[in-house]
Amino acid sequence: AAGPLATVPDPRDPTLGGLLSPDFNDSACLSRYRAVLYRHPSLHAISSHLVSALRRYESLHRQCGPGTPAYARAVERLRAAPNASTTPPSSSSSDCSYLVWNPVEGLGNRILSITSGFLYALLTDRVLLLHSSGGDLDDLFCEPFPGSTWILPAGDKDDFPIRDMEQLGQGHHESLGAVLGRGEDPGAASPWLYAHLVHNYDAQDRRFFCDDAQAALRRVPWLVFHSDSYFAPGLFLIPGEQHERELSPMFPRRDLVFHHLGRYLFHPSNTVWDMVMRYHDEYFAKADERVGIQVRTFGWAPISTDELYSQILKCTQRENILPVPSTGELVTANDGQPAKRKAVVVVSLHGEYSEKLRELYQKDSNGSTATGREAVSVYQPTHLGEQRSGEKEHNQQAFAEMVLLGFSDAVVTTAASTFGYVGQGLAGLRPWVLMSPVDEKAPDTPCRHAPTIEPCFHSPPNYDCRAKVEGDAGRMVRHIRHCEDYPQGVQLV
Ligand code: GDP
Repeated sequence: AAGPLATVPDPRDPTLGGLLSPDFNDSACLSRYRAVLYRHPSLHAISSHLVSALRRYESLHRQCGPGTPAYARAVERLRAAPNASTTPPSSSSSDCSYLVWNPVEGLGNRILSITSGFLYALLTDRVLLLHSSGGDLDDLFCEPFPGSTWILPAGDKDDFPIRDMEQLGQGHHESLGAVLGRGEDPGAASPWLYAHLVHNYDAQDRRFFCDDAQAALRRVPWLVFHSDSYFAPGLFLIPGEQHERELSPMFPRRDLVFHHLGRYLFHPSNTVWDMVMRYHDEYFAKADERVGIQVRTFGWAPISTDELYSQILKCTQRENILPVPSTGELVTANDGQPAKRKAVVVVSLHGEYSEKLRELYQKDSNGSTATGREAVSVYQPTHLGEQRSGEKEHNQQAFAEMVLLGFSDAVVTTAASTFGYVGQGLAGLRPWVLMSPVDEKAPDTPCRHAPTIEPCFHSPPNYDCRAKVEGDAGRMVRHIRHCEDYPQGVQLV
């Protein structure tokens, strides 16, 4: 589906076929131009339309970003604006407008909501800024846009006029849903609005994904949002020509949105890259084949360790991802060398799965298996026990593991995990998905090959903007279907 406008990136090209700007200093962010050397080569074409949209965005960000006179003017106007609908904000079309992201939930959710916000910013000519509370974005990602920053300056002396953004929530006076609920025009209500795009959002909030609300939002210079989800597919649901005209040439293949934007935006900081390189050298460097297995357990889908372990084994052996260890006579090799070295990296908060796998394949010490001669080595970088998303080191560790997962030749993920979505997206592979347990038991089909590389949007709007009634987001447009791993959700295919 590449078409004449698309190019398949040359695997030696550090800009990934023009996806990355060549205007960066290499040493400030070692990963940016080097990750390509470690990833399974991406065979996925990038459209020239996406490349030019990114370059255009970068120049907008450079012109409007923090530290520029335009930014200072925009903040000043926000500070001075009376918080009343009697005086509409006086902005002209040449002014910059902004989209402010806030952290919600774990790192996987955050990476997906940042990506969705970035796509929205690309479509609406807003400048994306990240509000990092408590420094939990520090030393995690490199800056993605040359000559500027995407971090919202919110230090003591530079107080940002919208206070306590982390406490914004459903029903806030300035939320789009509340403004629409009061029958006011969102475009004239206030110099800033809040979009509540969290899974518990109501019918009014969901009108964010309607063209009339979008038209009104064009007149709001500052838009702040909270989201715990990959809402990018929702942007493809907005009726009307406007977004569709941009989106289809940008993404002639809809199922590559996160793959391309994720590799564009998320480059590990030098500290994180150092972790990734250490893991890579120790686990993956000498392997002929690299397998990443991401194991996550959720309170809402309980399953015992033994049951989940046997699900992982059934899945990987049935799908020929891991060999079945030989039980009978050992095959003696002429040269004593295994034909193939397979490295398996398990990423999980828990250590049991990799321990059991390691034990299984260690017994099989000369590498003879029922299917031939493969030596399987099993590794796990960390097993931190529990989720602590507010801590810098914890996030660095989690990101390093997502990036490592992205170096795999085959990926096994856990259904509904945003951590897994990031790994598969960076890898550019359709994962084998460990399906959720039913009544604490693994389902009969232990895993399925996902139909798409794309993450699932867990809480789609399910709103028919034209009829103004509930609708099924999985049946509205051709390229959006219900997710296999999380049927209430929808994804681009
Ligand atoms: P999700 O809950 O699976 O959708 O993924 P999130 O990334 O949003 O939240 C889970 C958080 O728990 C991560 O961000 C990490 O902080 C932590 N976590 C979960 N699994 C792992 C893992 O395999 N390795 C590490 N280092 N952290 C993990």
